[in-house]
Amino acid sequence: MKQMFLGGRWLPARDGRTLPVVDPADGQVFDEIARGTAHEVDLAVAEARQALSGPWARFNATERGRVLVKIAQGVLDHAEELAQLEARDTGKPMTTARNDIQVLARYFEFYGTAADKVHGETIPFLAGHQVSLLREPLGVTAHIIPWNYPAQMLGRTVAPALAMGNAVVLKPAEDTSLSALRVAEIAAAAGLPAGALNVVTGLGEEAGAALAAHPGIDFISFTGSNEVGTLVQQAAAKNAVKCVLELGGKSPQIVFEDVDVARAVPIIVRAIVQNAGQTCTAGSRLLVQRSIYDSFVTRVAEAFSKVRVGAPAMDLDCGPVMNPAQHARVQRYIDQARAQGIPVLAEGGLAEGVLATGYYVKPTLFGPVPRTAALACEEVFGPVLAAMPFEDEADAIALANGTDYGLLAAVWTENAGRLQRVAKAVKAGQVFMNCYGAGGGVELPFGGTKRSGHGREKGLLALEEVSTTKTLVHWHG
Ligand code: NAD
Repeated sequence: MKQMFLGGRWLPARDGRTLPVVDPADGQVFDEIARGTAHEVDLAVAEARQALSGPWARFNATERGRVLVKIAQGVLDHAEELAQLEARDTGKPMTTARNDIQVLARYFEFYGTAADKVHGETIPFLAGHQVSLLREPLGVTAHIIPWNYPAQMLGRTVAPALAMGNAVVLKPAEDTSLSALRVAEIAAAAGLPAGALNVVTGLGEEAGAALAAHPGIDFISFTGSNEVGTLVQQAAAKNAVKCVLELGGKSPQIVFEDVDVARAVPIIVRAIVQNAGQTCTAGSRLLVQRSIYDSFVTRVAEAFSKVRVGAPAMDLDCGPVMNPAQHARVQRYIDQARAQGIPVLAEGGLAEGVLATGYYVKPTLFGPVPRTAALACEEVFGPVLAAMPFEDEADAIALANGTDYGLLAAVWTENAGRLQRVAKAVKAGQVFMNCYGAGGGVELPFGGTKRSGHGREKGLLALEEVSTTKTLVHWHG
């Protein structure tokens, strides 16, 4: 049984309750985590608050940076162990899990080396005055993350917060808390003082809700579903704390008739199949200019039908989905689309030997999908790609912007002017041109527009989100 990590100590839930940890590849329980509740959230917030007046508060920016870089090294030293743990916990193929751990290390390295590059400003003002703008930590920062990329999400949200000198309370997803607990241990061994990073495990509606509503936090970062994001923002509003929301997506791949087909096809298939489609930035809509629609989707279908799904150790294109609820949800979208008569253009296959008790779904390419169908507008969060034809540039832009979401987009054309025009007209936090970067790019500011959320993570901009300013006005005569 894995305990929680609070104030540098391991702790079970006060009432001794636990939650099972299930392997998505076979549906079997292989471990337990503590089922923390409001009580443990109280303790964690108190430990974090105390850290802000303890040894952690006396770390200067260089020292904070150094400890983060040591955490990165600790992660790399345990990379294979962490990757095995992550693959078991999430069901993802080993290559993906190994990459996730490299990215986790990269976040600590990037923000560790950035910590002492952040500085304030001086501002010209009235005669006899000296004005300086200090950049300061927010205080106790709360972080709630989902189960699709547990290790990457931890690095993305926790590393910048620590770099700026905040004290963190992290609530990982109940399905995937193991890597967070191990990273907390690695961070302590690297010299991160007690209370700077606290991990409370438990259910979203218990520990998560208690953390979001806690009057002792100064900031909350939430990555997850739109439904819960709304609740978190309401809780943040009650305490008047800043809130960063990273929510869902329905990202379009916009393919014009002059696309480099050989380059685009494998990237487009990978962008929806990666992580079994459980990627907020999955390229889940394939918008293709009508003049090449048939020939292009035929090429995508050929590649799609070669996709293979299997257990982590088989290391194929993707693994099972996360849990029975997710399995039922994805399968429901597939069944409903079929029942509505939307043509199936291709299906990936399950590898021989996958267990019937695992949560496997067949990657499916549908098209042409009517513009008003659920598949065209709603986030499936599974390996399901919806192909749709468009007429011209204006139609492509209208279609691309025609959902509630605005997270990522890609434009595929050899026409440089069109590339720029369309990229600027599309509403999204990131636009890739003749490439796609689902999940990648620690350096690249990332986040949503519209219902995909607000605030920015990744890159140097994240450091502004997790800090505040203080303006000092000094009259010196
Ligand atoms: P979820 O909203 O169900 O859960 C996310 C986290 O919130 C978990 O830790 C969960 O325990 C917690 N939670 C659940 N109920 C809560 C409550 N009432 N109060 C506080 N916390 C609560 O999301 P999920 O199913 O784990 O993740 C899938 C969703 O996440 C998808 O919509 C996906 O697009 C989105 N996502 C977005 C990004 C991004 O960066 N934009 C990244 C990954 C996933």
